[in-house]
Order: sequence, then C-alpha cells, then structure tokens
Amino acid sequence: MDIIEEMQRPITTVEDRFWSRVKKTSKCWEWQGTKLKTGYGVVSIKGKNIRAHRIAYELTKGKIPQGYGVCHTCDNPSCVKPDHLWIGTHKENMEDRNKKGGYLIETSDFIRNLKIMTKGGRPKQVNKVLIEKRKEIMVKLLQEGFSRTQVAFIFSVHPAQVTRVLVESPK
Ligand SMILES: [Zn+2]
Repeated sequence: MDIIEEMQRPITTVEDRFWSRVKKTSKCWEWQGTKLKTGYGVVSIKGKNIRAHRIAYELTKGKIPQGYGVCHTCDNPSCVKPDHLWIGTHKENMEDRNKKGGYLIETSDFIRNLKIMTKGGRPKQVNKVLIEKRKEIMVKLLQEGFSRTQVAFIFSVHPAQVTRVLVESPK
C-alpha cells in the first residue's frame, strides 16, 4: 500500500455526493436525482426514502427536531437550497398556506372523499359532478394565488395533471 497514493485519492463525502446531484440556478437549487410524483426529491438510505430537502437541511443547518417538518419558502418541492428551507410544525406549515391564499377547509374534505372514491388513481369511475367539482376547486385555488405546484401538492398529483384537469372536459 502506497501511503502517498492513498492520501491523494479524492475523498467523496456524503455531502459531495449529495450536492453533485443538485443543479443550482439563480432562484432554486433543483434536485436532479429521483423524485416523487409530488416533485419532492428522494434519496434511498438503507432502503428508506428520505426527502432530499430534509437531507439538505440537516447537512447545512443541523438536525430536524422530532415532530417538525422542513418547509419551502419558494413552494418548489424539488428545491434543496438551504436558504429556501425553514423548519416548522405541520400546523405552522398549514398556517403559512392559509396566509398565502385563504386555503379552503372545504378542499381538504373534498380531497379526502375523492381519494376514498378513486383509491388514489385518476377518477375514471367518478361521476361528472365530482370531476366538475375538482376542476372548480383547482380553478378557485389558482385564482386565490396558489401556484400550479401548490395545487398539485394539495391534490397529491403531478403539476402536469393539474394542467390536464383544467383543460379536460368530463365525458
Ligand atoms: Zn427554492
């Protein structure tokens, strides 16, 4: 074993490997690795999917206290820029959404019912009224200032699906 050779070998730390999968733009730092349907970046660690923005937070700012979540000031789920991340309880996260656009309680009830009726898939079997209602709520949220990404997050769908719902007419 050549000690000098060993010392010259580049060290790849966890940090290095993590940040090598990030594309830094002037606004957000976009996660380039695996993403969930909702846009959140994920890293598989010991068989568990850990959200990339949580790792970014822990790498740069320290441990996330129990019961707290890491929220985005930019509302971009795939962003891992430490400056765009803040820590809050679920309640604070919801209050933040309230402040941003008068989030409708009605929406969460509707979504819960929709999920039960469609079992998480596209509402193929769901009647015309429900499809119309979903569209109506999405339009309302957008009008109240929610971004497409936020609406997608609320409905647990990909942002492209929000666009699709807005243009599709129920058959
Ligand atoms: Zn961001």
